[in-house]
Amino acid sequence: PIEKSKFIWMNGEMVGWDEANVHVLTHGLHYGSGVFEGIRAYQTPNGPAVFRLNDHVNRLFESAHIFMIDIPFSTETITEAIKAIVRENNLEECYIRPIVYLGYGEMGLNPLTCKADVSVAAWKWGTYLGEDGVTKGIRLKVSSWVRHNPNSLPPAAKGTGMYMNSSLAKVEAVKAGYDEAILLSPQGYVSECTGENVFVVRKGRVFTPPTSAGALEGITQSTVSALAQELGYKVEVENILRSDLYTAQEIFVCGTAAEVTPAVSVDDRMVGDGKPGVFTKAIQAAYYAAVHGENDRHPEWLDYVG
Ligand code: PMP
Repeated sequence: PIEKSKFIWMNGEMVGWDEANVHVLTHGLHYGSGVFEGIRAYQTPNGPAVFRLNDHVNRLFESAHIFMIDIPFSTETITEAIKAIVRENNLEECYIRPIVYLGYGEMGLNPLTCKADVSVAAWKWGTYLGEDGVTKGIRLKVSSWVRHNPNSLPPAAKGTGMYMNSSLAKVEAVKAGYDEAILLSPQGYVSECTGENVFVVRKGRVFTPPTSAGALEGITQSTVSALAQELGYKVEVENILRSDLYTAQEIFVCGTAAEVTPAVSVDDRMVGDGKPGVFTKAIQAAYYAAVHGENDRHPEWLDYVG
């Protein structure tokens, strides 16, 4: 169960957690006509800070633009709402979920006349793939479900309905006894996990898939690439084959919710020596230092909630 906070920001107002409800004929509920973000705030020496807030707000507006959903608030208002929800709930570390969805009023599949509702919730949520996953590593399964064809659903958008694809893959993997699914693109290249991007170390080189393989342009992926470079590693954006996963020395998955989580096997083939590798551990340390503001290398990534 979700660990409740006091307030949720809904269309410009703070409402009580249990009062943040919608009508059953909400368009987004029926057709998945919404866009959302997943953001985290972390404790830092200068108080709680939202990590890469502007990048998340920009992606939210881009997702809405792709689906032609008009967000009835400015980027400044949404940015302030995100900081306010952390502050007003007295949260030191939390997960933050802004969502824009087509509301109540229209039921047809041309939703352009339907008004959008916006809410921002925040609550305490531990690392998504578990503390054990972060320290010992997870077991991946290549999914029988294929990632979105970019001309069916646009991978650059974080659309709510798009996550039915992720759910199919996640349930299949979990029922088969694995921790997470890894999806291939319609062309057969490694795309991403159900809610994380993927990095692979093979023959001493570091790879992550290109956006053309159908993955979301992850903000953590971009953070990891920057941190890798600062640690002296070059990240190559290249197509990755399923068999590359089997012969990798290291694999990790990353996302706002999952942070940096090592993978120790794929389809029952052990990755490296079956333990989180040297590069993975270096990136994990650099990532936790960055989000907690333990050094001043990236002040632009931290937005203090005040
Ligand atoms: N891929 C998918 C499908 C996701 O849902 C997420 C989480 N937003 C990611 C990748 C990672 O993105 P980010 O690092 O921006 O959280």
